[in-house]
Amino acid sequence: MSERQKLVAANWKMNGSLASNQPLIAEIVAGLGETSGSEVAVCPPFIYLSQIADSLQGSSVVLGAQNVSHLDAGAYTGETAVSMLKDFGCQYVIVGHSERRSLYAETDERVAEKFLQVVQSGLRPILCVGELLEEREAGETEDVIARQLDAVIELAGIENFSQAVVAYEPVWAIGTGKTATPEQAQQVHEFIRLRLARHDSDVADAIRILYGGSVKADNAEQLFNMADIDGGLIGGASLIAQDFLTICKA
Ligand code: PEP
Repeated sequence: MSERQKLVAANWKMNGSLASNQPLIAEIVAGLGETSGSEVAVCPPFIYLSQIADSLQGSSVVLGAQNVSHLDAGAYTGETAVSMLKDFGCQYVIVGHSERRSLYAETDERVAEKFLQVVQSGLRPILCVGELLEEREAGETEDVIARQLDAVIELAGIENFSQAVVAYEPVWAIGTGKTATPEQAQQVHEFIRLRLARHDSDVADAIRILYGGSVKADNAEQLFNMADIDGGLIGGASLIAQDFLTICKA
């Protein structure tokens, strides 16, 4: 089995301000000074990428974005191209977050187009997958995850997963305070790895699969200790420097 470097990615969502970002990122950077081993990424809103890129100069924390257009350039009001994210030093781009799927009607196919756009530009997508509560209760979790993954494999090809990260985010656990148990999460992470292994076992073995959904300072360690959980995608808790640092150290 490959040694997978853990990754903890902060998804700030639509939070922050010029004034409040500064002390938050400064405390994160200073606090991580003593830690090593895990990779840490911060994904602020687009408008603050430049501010956070400046604050990350000289630190090991890397920059990511929360979304991207599936298109290159042109008359697409309000959209942001992947080349623009590269301009600001982004290394990661979250694609297919459940809030994008549910609130902005992103289909599996659109998510796959975004994934392809990101890998073709040389950046790394963090592909989010996850089931709704009613889908879990109906016993459909694996079907949903398989459908979401297969759409991307079909369009982008398994080879492009070698520079990608997958995040398993059960929708019922996002921002709700309900975390999947380590065993529930591990079961789905293992399923994701096996699904990818059908196409390429080396890619499946090496890919990092993050867990996201109400990860907190007091539950991160148990989750991250599971065999197929390679870190976390952190929403709410990433806005509190000390909580985020505790999660990174876990
Ligand atoms: C997320 O939205 O990616 C997320 C995991 O949010 P939270 O940690 O707040 O549940």
